[in-house]
Amino acid sequence: MTAHSVLVVGGAGYIGSHMCRRLLDAGHRVTVFDNLSRGHADAVEGCELVRGDIRSAGDLRACLEGRSFDLTMHFAALAYVGESVLKPAEYYDTNVRGSLMLLEALREASVGRLVFSSTCATYGEVQERPITEAHPQHPVNPYGRSKWMVEQVLRDYAATYGFSSVSLRYFNAAGCDPQGRLGERHDPETHLIPLVLREAQRVAAGGDPEATGLSLFGTDLETPDGTCVRDYTHVSDLCEAHLLAAERLLAGTSMGFEAYNLGSGAGCSVLQVIEACRRVTGIDIRYRTAPRRAGDPLWLVGSSDRAREVLGWRPAFTAIDGIVGTAWRWMQAQEAPQPSGAPGHAR
Ligand code: UDP
Repeated sequence: MTAHSVLVVGGAGYIGSHMCRRLLDAGHRVTVFDNLSRGHADAVEGCELVRGDIRSAGDLRACLEGRSFDLTMHFAALAYVGESVLKPAEYYDTNVRGSLMLLEALREASVGRLVFSSTCATYGEVQERPITEAHPQHPVNPYGRSKWMVEQVLRDYAATYGFSSVSLRYFNAAGCDPQGRLGERHDPETHLIPLVLREAQRVAAGGDPEATGLSLFGTDLETPDGTCVRDYTHVSDLCEAHLLAAERLLAGTSMGFEAYNLGSGAGCSVLQVIEACRRVTGIDIRYRTAPRRAGDPLWLVGSSDRAREVLGWRPAFTAIDGIVGTAWRWMQAQEAPQPSGAPGHAR
């Protein structure tokens, strides 16, 4: 692939920053547009960082004027399901209005190719397993609905304005840069793998395993071991899919709107994740049982056959231990927590 100039909107966040690193590694020029509300400036080393908000026409103009881009990747969004139920206005404002403003600014600047971060939350209640792209989309929370709405806008932009886009519907993004350069830094952290590994870190630092701060939400559910099943996909594999989608758009192979699931196709329960973390860390990680978290679907596993067939996507991380291993290595390289500090829980 020849070197291209790529605008990465929301590039300072977890998946966005891994994407920037991958684009730089492939020799592309990267400009990050991010308001740093949830991202980190130090995660985009080597990129040009333009600080701005997608809801500001002035900020967008300032970024697009005087620069030319071959393609945009759009990661900027609020992305906590629970928070979206409590603050729908903020979610629609950032995720929907912000995306509309971005699309208009891009159209004005004649940047007509976009890779969009979408989600399995656009499907809603699972009716068929595994979930394919043909699964009905009836999202059940404001986060899922906000992403679904943007997909509809992208379809119409493709049909009417020739604005081509690829929507990538992630399942559970997990893991860190295999070379240990970047990690997952959410605040608050609500995701399972980082929370389990934080607990391991606490015990490794001399904390009492019995004083665990880890909660397991739901243990008597209608799943094989009673806990929720998810499809954990390594963040680097997600980035590879973005590159493939970008190549397709740049080559003009995809001229309209396309959507692909990005999942491993393999389900892993919460208990299996904890077991994997025990194996990888060699630490006796304990947990407390807690009621099922509101809005948590029992089972979310995607079929990525289309991404494999059409994009030629070949995920490298096929086992949960490998995914956890990259997260653990990165976490160990960070400052160790105090033994008394239990991991926090939000949502
Ligand atoms: N989970 C848990 N304890 C935690 C955090 C998460 O038991 O402290 C469970 C959660 O209920 C879900 C699974 O782990 O079944 C994955 O949650 P996560 O927040 O990582 O991703 P989600 O699938 O909600 O996007």
